[in-house]
Amino acid sequence: MSLNLAAMLREAARVDPTKPVVLFDGGQLSYAELDALSDCFATGLRREGIRPADAVGLQLPNLPQFLIAYFGILKAGSVVVPLNVLLRAPEIAYHLRDSEARALITWSGTAVEAAKGAADVGVDRIWVVNTPGTSEVSVGRPFEELLGGEQPDRPFFVETEPGDTAVIIYTSGTTGRPKGAELSHFQLYMNADTPGRLFGVRADDIVMVVLPLFHVFGLSSELNVCVRFGATMSLVPRFSADKVLEVIQRDGVTIFEGVPTMYIALLNHPRIDDYDLSSLRVGISGGAAIPAEVIDEFEQRFGFVILEGYGMSETASTTTFNVSAEERKIYSVGKPIWGVEVEIWSDQGQPLPTGPEHVGEVVVRGVNTPKGYYKNPEATAEAFAGGWFHTGDLGWADEDGFFFIVDRKKDLIIRGGYNVYPREVEEVLYSHPSVAEAAVVGVPHDLLGEDIKAYVELKKGATATEAELINYVKERLAAYKYPRTVEFRNELPKGATGKILKESLKQPSTN
Ligand code: AMP
Repeated sequence: MSLNLAAMLREAARVDPTKPVVLFDGGQLSYAELDALSDCFATGLRREGIRPADAVGLQLPNLPQFLIAYFGILKAGSVVVPLNVLLRAPEIAYHLRDSEARALITWSGTAVEAAKGAADVGVDRIWVVNTPGTSEVSVGRPFEELLGGEQPDRPFFVETEPGDTAVIIYTSGTTGRPKGAELSHFQLYMNADTPGRLFGVRADDIVMVVLPLFHVFGLSSELNVCVRFGATMSLVPRFSADKVLEVIQRDGVTIFEGVPTMYIALLNHPRIDDYDLSSLRVGISGGAAIPAEVIDEFEQRFGFVILEGYGMSETASTTTFNVSAEERKIYSVGKPIWGVEVEIWSDQGQPLPTGPEHVGEVVVRGVNTPKGYYKNPEATAEAFAGGWFHTGDLGWADEDGFFFIVDRKKDLIIRGGYNVYPREVEEVLYSHPSVAEAAVVGVPHDLLGEDIKAYVELKKGATATEAELINYVKERLAAYKYPRTVEFRNELPKGATGKILKESLKQPSTN
């Protein structure tokens, strides 16, 4: 039996060739066009000596070329290594070396940095997408070169086994070096098929794709899901509330997927009511805990439901999901998706009973676990201790089978021997009317080991003092949990996906 993930594109193009697969500023591509262009790309790679199972770095923002290259690499039977566009030369070198990449696709905005990194590790095949607004660069060769030349004998498709690696995706690596999770064609297919059904994605949907495609949430839960169900993507290269609102109205977006900070930024947009958002029928949130206030306010004001799910790079995205407004539980990340088992384990590797008093590590087994970490048997063995994949997240389960994530294991604050979950403190801060964004971290303390500090961004025009916020939390949580200091920032630092970067918050303030 063979399975190549790119079969999803071939099938969708067969069902409805003229249907737009992607809308972007100034144009669109149909399913048939993307199918043909990615065939050409695969042929181009082969012409250039890239063989099946070779890794190819893919460092592009959300441009249509991302889709062409992604499916082209897959069709060539090669392995996609998505790379964050914010990476600097030494990081690019690290990722290319670690994944043993033989080529790199990048764009003019990062090409100079990328070329430096690639040169360090001897990767000399670089193709660059030149986009308007960035200065044309002279490194690498034009992307279009791979599409030209002899037309391929269609259909171009290298047969792959379901268990072959399709994508090596690097973990965010906030501790230690990023690790390359090996995701198979089968794992990715399953994580397009099942979540797409649960999200209710239909061929007539227009899904906003503003999450970066180089991250698993965008790649798996948006791109793969849309192509699996023949839907249309509305591509936005970089998040800004203005742009997102404009595009929702322009394209009649029906599904919005985002991380919580995106929903917060939209809600706090001063002119959100000027836009027609009536086409939206569902919002999907993941990547971090979404404050209950945000869900409530969105749903009340705009009349569409926000469903929360949970997942990570290694699980090719979705692991649990709240399938509908009727069945969900607020604060919960929902139930395991089809073919996936989730348990809560103690530090000794024993399954824990249900109930909020039994917080332990979330472990996963099933169709969405990775093959392992590329060339890293120690990390793979550690992650799969006891036969289940260890997520590094802490959570608990209730008697109805719903899961609750309390925090990342490494974000847990231990203050004088007491466990404090930052998320619980953040939830309270978010309920304060002046708070736009909040992040709670542990800071070193001589006597207590760690103490609690909150970083807060206030809503535009709103005021609050440090003492006021401390008291506000103190009145609502046990005495060991309230923040002892609050630092105000104009903006909280975020990674490319929009998640708040707690590690960099601990660095001295720059604003
Ligand atoms: P990444 O691999 O970058 O996608 O990060 C995955 C991590 O994001 C998980 O291990 C969780 O810590 C966090 N995460 C994802 N979804 C949620 C959610 N709904 N609630 C809380 N944390 C989440």
